[in-house]
Amino acid sequence: MFCPKCRSEFKEGVTKCPDCGLELVDVLPPEPKMEYVEFKTVFKTANPGIITIAKSILEDAKIHYSMKSEGLQSIYALGVVEIQVSKEEAFAARQLLSGLEENDV
Ligand SMILES: [Zn+2]
Repeated sequence: MFCPKCRSEFKEGVTKCPDCGLELVDVLPPEPKMEYVEFKTVFKTANPGIITIAKSILEDAKIHYSMKSEGLQSIYALGVVEIQVSKEEAFAARQLLSGLEENDV
């Protein structure tokens, strides 16, 4: 039995998902066709200056990226930030960003 919302699998006998409160179904509906892209982390740094450079490099290269920060979100994004790009663009992005860390002062 599966929860249609969180897609967890439950043992026989369970009829409702304890997390979502939804009736379980025997077969999961197909994954909703969102524009799902598999993102890969290509760069990781805690240096805000490097992040800015990395962003502009990716923007120049028209590579779509997303940022994932660890810990609490704050205006002063302290802590490690991961830059993620789609699987297809991960190789190119890594190449572009490969020189950044060494220039870190
Ligand atoms: Zn659920």
